Amino acid sequence: MKLNSTKQIRESVALICKKYGDTYWRALDKEKKYPSEFVKEMTDSGFLNVLIPEEFGGSGLGLIDACAVLEEISLNGAHAGACHAQMYVMGSVLRHGTKEQKAKFLPKISAGKLRLQSFAVTEPNSGTDTTNIKTFAEKINSGWKVNGQKVWISRVEYSDLMLLLARTLPIEKVKKKTDGISAFLINIHDAKNRGLTVSPIESMINHHSCQLFFDDMVIPKESLVGKEHDGFKVIMDGMNAERILIASECIGDGRYFIKKATDYANSRQVFGRSIGQNQGVQFPIAECHAKIESAALMVEKAASLFDANEKCGPEANIAKMLAADASWKAGTVAMETFGGFGFSKEFDIERKFRETRLYQTAPVSRNLILSYIAEHVLKLPRSY
Ligand SMILES: Cc1cc2nc3c(=O)[nH]c(=O)nc-3n(C[C@H](O)[C@H](O)[C@H](O)COP(=O)(O)OP(=O)(O)OC[C@H]3O[C@@H](n4cnc5c(N)ncnc54)[C@H](O)[C@@H]3O)c2cc1C
Repeated sequence: MKLNSTKQIRESVALICKKYGDTYWRALDKEKKYPSEFVKEMTDSGFLNVLIPEEFGGSGLGLIDACAVLEEISLNGAHAGACHAQMYVMGSVLRHGTKEQKAKFLPKISAGKLRLQSFAVTEPNSGTDTTNIKTFAEKINSGWKVNGQKVWISRVEYSDLMLLLARTLPIEKVKKKTDGISAFLINIHDAKNRGLTVSPIESMINHHSCQLFFDDMVIPKESLVGKEHDGFKVIMDGMNAERILIASECIGDGRYFIKKATDYANSRQVFGRSIGQNQGVQFPIAECHAKIESAALMVEKAASLFDANEKCGPEANIAKMLAADASWKAGTVAMETFGGFGFSKEFDIERKFRETRLYQTAPVSRNLILSYIAEHVLKLPRSY
């Protein structure tokens, strides 16, 4: 399908979401299942390839349009976390891949024949402190031999490809701690037969995160993305897009909570009148609305700068923090508005409340964003 305008994208995504209503997401959440049908329909309809250029079979649209897709998914009560990475992980291949890698993978990703929606960075002892990763890829004749462990790697079981970050030089042997790290594009199915073990983690949301164990896993030479020992750059380049996209998801969540809370406040009768008549109930909802709408402007600004190929690090980080804070606050207010019924699975507030909480922590915590703003924007002294 040819997608022409953001408005048209929103309307079409909303139509798909309507087919997968609250009961669909509630049942998946209960059974910890992956929304395969929803993700397939989103892929087949071309909504997850909006950032892939037309020459590789994608829609070749901008981040503004990609944001509209994720925002609309969240706004309709669905879980965008199930498919958001399909949009941005491929950016590393697009920007840093060889001609052969792009020709081999991007058209298949665009067509939905291959899924690249797994991004393996975090380890048990290095989440925030990314350069401290210990997973090591040792150079051998045929490529590299990988040993180590990753944790919290989402959607591995529902992806064909994974971008893996590993050390290729020990941290003690490099000048800058960001040096000596490489990025690899891994075929997950092959890797499972060659030393990769995948073990699901039980968590508070239905996010399909796993632990990965690499035991002498051999990867071929053509797996390298970007320059050897310079893989930190490969992932850093994609991080602004990731932050802006996650922020748009938060805007959708926030608007979802506000709509739910408003409807409930209008209909719930206590002491013979609607609870929404009490300013103690309406002011928190109104405040959340103001916060979400102002965060949305920041997301739009960051996405516009990104699409214009301008620097957008501060804007992307600020947008992510403001949007995540606003959606988390809106979730809390929706829980409050629903009273005891907020705890009932039937109303979906507690599910979305759990889901939106993730964005306080991942893919980057708000402390680390504040640290970035303090040190890189305001030029305050480094703290670590
Ligand atoms: C559901 C889920 C899905 C995820 N999916 C993925 C994935 O697909 N791929 C992937 O690679 N990772 C994934 N992650 C990992 C996520 O990115 C990390 O959990 C996150 O970066 C935080 O790392 P950590 O848990 O090790 O926290 P830590 O680094 O141990 O930090 C703990 C706390 O201390 C704070 N802190 C640490 N250092 C400082 C400092 N210098 N100043 C101030 N505060 C500080 C942090 O803000 C945080 O609140 C996922 C996590 C979750 C929960």
